[in-house]
Amino acid sequence: MNALGRHILVEFYNCSPELMNDVVHIENSMVAAAETAGATVINSTFHHFSPYGVSGVVVIQESHLAIHTWPEFGYAAVDLFTCGDSVDPWVSYNYLKDAFEASHGSAMECRRGQLDLLKRNDFNLESLRDVSPQPQEKLGTITRDVWFTERDENIALSLKHTGNQLYKKDSPYQRVEVYETLAYGNLLTLDGMVMCTQKDEYVYHEMITHVPMFSNPKAKRALVIGGGDGGTVRELLRYEQLEEVTLVEIDELVIEACKLHLPETAVAFDNPRLNLLVEDGIKYIKECADERYDLIIVDSADPVGPGEGLFTAEFYQEVYRCLTKDGIMITQSESPRFNSAVFVEIYDTYKQIFGAEKVHCYLAAIPTYPTGTWSFSYSSKGEAHPLTFDVNGAAAFSKAQGLKYYNEDIHMAAFALPNFVKELLNAKPGQVTNEYSAEPTA
Ligand code: SAM
Repeated sequence: MNALGRHILVEFYNCSPELMNDVVHIENSMVAAAETAGATVINSTFHHFSPYGVSGVVVIQESHLAIHTWPEFGYAAVDLFTCGDSVDPWVSYNYLKDAFEASHGSAMECRRGQLDLLKRNDFNLESLRDVSPQPQEKLGTITRDVWFTERDENIALSLKHTGNQLYKKDSPYQRVEVYETLAYGNLLTLDGMVMCTQKDEYVYHEMITHVPMFSNPKAKRALVIGGGDGGTVRELLRYEQLEEVTLVEIDELVIEACKLHLPETAVAFDNPRLNLLVEDGIKYIKECADERYDLIIVDSADPVGPGEGLFTAEFYQEVYRCLTKDGIMITQSESPRFNSAVFVEIYDTYKQIFGAEKVHCYLAAIPTYPTGTWSFSYSSKGEAHPLTFDVNGAAAFSKAQGLKYYNEDIHMAAFALPNFVKELLNAKPGQVTNEYSAEPTA
């Protein structure tokens, strides 16, 4: 070859917009396209843009492959740059055309560094040689820099992952995915939103369960709506006194994904005391008998998609009807910081149904949830009060069960609310200032 390198400028058309927005698929395809062409991959860096589009580069010993996608046009601009004769960039071209399901592509090859235009400078190469100690890279290993990002208007959480998508299926309700993150272990997402990770799920599941259970020790029957990852029923089934634990999850794929990739949360799915129902919780509660449950936990995702109906006055009214006289309703009530408006609205609804003095809010620190500050609501139909509980019993239970977050002090501290949360709890829907919201509504 009378040039240092071959550079193919590629345009792929009518690609699948889905795939053009799938950073994991694109990263895997670009790495595989390089390797299939015989290149030695050194590292890859890929980024997923908001609201869509992916850019990335795979650095190879023989130069690089780069890509920028426009899912809205089903279009990808790709650079295939190789030097030397050992790699045929056209092999990568064909590989990517298939991988992106492009209907057609156009490409222009140009020779880079035409030798007859270059004059070799004879100088002591040694002086250029980088002799600084290099980290021993395991042969054949490539450093992949692939990030999962959950973002909203102004804030985002990014978690680096291995690039291997452990699970990805579309159910009739949502996209169910599991990523292998480096910092938080396996991560379950629904429609791109973080649901739980192996490294911090215990915070959410211990707080949504043990606070009500210790302030209502006579509870015999518990219902969980949502909670398809299994963490909440895992915690509930620690209580021998519970005669019935029913889980109503709408999406069997969530259960499947967690059984496969989040075994710690899914550990209780085979417990004979668990009554597992795959159905819509809204329909279940409508058809449920009056005063059937001592504890109802609404372990829903955010108020979007199948979970939207779990944030309505009608639904909470039904929950109230199905609680025994001393029954308690616990919900995950979003983040007072993340979207204050929703927070104020749902508390206002709880108060109208249970009575203002019967509704309490408690907080927990969940690192992978937006803003890290998350809240739970505690609404009692009868006399139960969250801070009237067996302190010593809670201390002994936390120790005996090896809990990682919940204990008697956290139980009390969680109800000590900062002023801005108290202000939000006393606000009326529509009155909310943006001052506290990380996501200004207007
Ligand atoms: N901890 C998570 C959070 O705060 O975002 C939520 C965990 S859990 C995975 C939420 C579950 O609620 C999901 O598995 C979802 O499929 C389920 N879900 C949503 N809508 C539902 C409905 N109408 N009935 C029953 N389950 C529902």
